[in-house]
Amino acid sequence: MSIETSIYLDCNASAPLLQTVSDFVRENLHHHGNPSSQHSFGRKLKGMIENARLKIASFFGAQPQEVFFTSTATESNALALLGLPAKHYIVSAVEHSSVLDNIHNFHPKNHTIVPVDHDGLINLQALETALKTAPSPCLLSIMIANNETGALQPMETIIQLAKQYGAWVHTDAVQAAGKVPLNFHDLQVDTMAFCSHKLGSLPGVGVLIMKNNLPFSPLYTGGGHERGVRHGTENALAIAALGKAVDYLNTHNNLSSFEKKRSLRNTMEEELFKQVPDLIIPSKQVHRLPNTSCLCMPSVHNSLQMMNFDLAGIAVSTGSACSSGKVKASHVLLAMGYSEEIAKTAIRVSMTPHTTEKDMRSFANCWLKIYKQHAHKA
Ligand code: PLP
Repeated sequence: MSIETSIYLDCNASAPLLQTVSDFVRENLHHHGNPSSQHSFGRKLKGMIENARLKIASFFGAQPQEVFFTSTATESNALALLGLPAKHYIVSAVEHSSVLDNIHNFHPKNHTIVPVDHDGLINLQALETALKTAPSPCLLSIMIANNETGALQPMETIIQLAKQYGAWVHTDAVQAAGKVPLNFHDLQVDTMAFCSHKLGSLPGVGVLIMKNNLPFSPLYTGGGHERGVRHGTENALAIAALGKAVDYLNTHNNLSSFEKKRSLRNTMEEELFKQVPDLIIPSKQVHRLPNTSCLCMPSVHNSLQMMNFDLAGIAVSTGSACSSGKVKASHVLLAMGYSEEIAKTAIRVSMTPHTTEKDMRSFANCWLKIYKQHAHKA
């Protein structure tokens, strides 16, 4: 099965490279030099970076001077969580490891993990108690959309609450960016992180949008790049490519392409439910990203499912892409109250804007085939 004939349903791990970005990179690969150099080579690259900054700022509702380039969203999250001098940190139990692990490792004694309900939404009462009792200044980090279930947090309510208690708010917008409407200033958060490879561009660029005048200290020092927020020579071509991807998202109304996937997703889920009524779909009852579905196949371990999907040429995942390749029970599903046994049966299906009805039919047929072959034998 060649990659060309495979069905890619792992957009939340990384979106397919947009053709326009691929063409742009090919055409611009010859540009070399250092964007900090004063000569024409450097100035050309610097111009490409600043042009991308303008496009990204405009698309995501920020001022250009609020946009900082990093290497990944992991780095952008870390900058926000380690660069602001909070006395206490509050995070939800379903954050990505790039938030949770930094909190555990670097703020082991001054954090609160707020539980979520069975649908994956933050417990607002527990959040308010945490905000009320936290020493000031306090930083709340909350993701907009969960990468595994797609659940969308009630951001307006959460941010209002945080502001009422004077907390800074950081949001991990990695999965929301490009899939649902997202505007930094309207959201009224202080910092926001996302990255290039989930937007159809090259990997290697993270974005941190940060309000002016926050008491931010960089994690290390160097040549003063990105106005001292993130030192080190910028990945100019990849940054420019992200600008190109944002152009595409703008002109092709990417949000509506994702929105159109909602009915494909719902049809697939209903079809599977009809045949396997004890299928569990976490967060199905709440607002979710339109392209995402988390499916727990009764009694079949997800690593066995993954192997079978892969053999059939269908790319799905067991949740967040983990570099160790180990399949652990998802901390997201455990936090939502699912047992380890159920959590280990979960796979994530995340459609791209180009996923077709035929792709989803093939996926559903394959899911049912795996179920019939392996259920209750695992
Ligand atoms: N936050 C969320 C919600 C994610 O899904 C991911 C990646 O999957 C990250 C952060 C980390 O992003 P990056 O791969 O750019 O470090």
